[in-house]
Amino acid sequence: RLILAIESSCDETSVAVIEDGNKILSNIIASQINSHKRFGGVVPEVASRHHVEQIIGCMEEALEEADIKVDELGGVAVTYGPGLVGALLIGLTAAKSFAWANGLPLIPVNHMSGHIYASRFVSEMSFPMMALLVSGGHTELVYMKEHGSYEIIGETRDDACGEAYDKVGRVLGLSYPSGKEIDEMAHLGEDTYHFPRAMMKEDNFDFSFSGLKSAFINLVHNAEQRNETLDNNNLAASFQSSVIDVLVSKTIRACQEYDVKQLVMAGGVAANKGLRERLTQAVESELVDVDFVVPPFKLCGDNAAMIGAAGFIEAKKGHFADWSLNAKPSITL
Ligand code: ATP
Ligand code: MG
Ligand code: FE
Repeated sequence: RLILAIESSCDETSVAVIEDGNKILSNIIASQINSHKRFGGVVPEVASRHHVEQIIGCMEEALEEADIKVDELGGVAVTYGPGLVGALLIGLTAAKSFAWANGLPLIPVNHMSGHIYASRFVSEMSFPMMALLVSGGHTELVYMKEHGSYEIIGETRDDACGEAYDKVGRVLGLSYPSGKEIDEMAHLGEDTYHFPRAMMKEDNFDFSFSGLKSAFINLVHNAEQRNETLDNNNLAASFQSSVIDVLVSKTIRACQEYDVKQLVMAGGVAANKGLRERLTQAVESELVDVDFVVPPFKLCGDNAAMIGAAGFIEAKKGHFADWSLNAKPSITL
């Protein structure tokens, strides 16, 4: 019933204790953002070193806050991919050592399935389900017939959505990661620059964000050369409407074509207020019978609670790993 979960795939060291896969007893998240800010992105070597320093403290804190005894735990869930290899190995080693020392089974969890299962803290999953995964490294539409069954029906052909946010933010002089700030600026501006909506009308469920990113960067650079000033809030709003238009239109179409009962939006970009509002409206008007679920803001970004939620389902199916479990940096769902 109780699972200790560990996440270290990127720049958050996180440890959680989860009950029955959907109740959070603790969810400690140590972010390294301040160390990566000055480099404008995550530096793998720096990330690994932070995980080494943070992981034991996070484990102690998670157990203490959950107020449980180690012998009440039924397993240890851990992210084994995708992510940075050095970062993953720290969490894996900690999870294996703890599991081995306490005679607990090891539950391997795919980070992206973790993002999807964060929805279980809001409501039970109902199938067939469509997941819109929007994060720093992924933009995918995933069709799920049942627990553990993933069919990627569309994905980005170039940049991930969150990556585009971060790159565009850098051009505006914002610090990394800039998704949240662009979202806030977008609410103060209007779509006056009309960027392209890449692949929106194409008959597939793929995405592309590099054209939008280039259009944005060119506009800003050309204006700089001509000494013109652009309105940053309007730039943010224009960029964000292009992203949202494409994501919403393809997601609605995917749900219709696959006739799903539930739509889950997950991943770091699912914290975007504009996207949450627009997708909620679109579902209400165009997918009357579909249940739309988005995790609370705190559970959209990387955290171990979601790994515990996915791990609980894996354990129920008897999916355990042996001690040779290794990091798989580029594993897909
Ligand atoms: P992945 O999950 O694909 O391996 P990741 O774990 O690095 O990648 P997440 O932590 O899930 O990614 O998400 C981080 C991304 O979310 C960053 O690119 C960040 O800019 C973006 N993001 C966070 N909040 C918002 C927001 N409000 N609007 C848009 N983007 C946001
Ligand atoms: Mg992160
Ligand atoms: Fe993530």
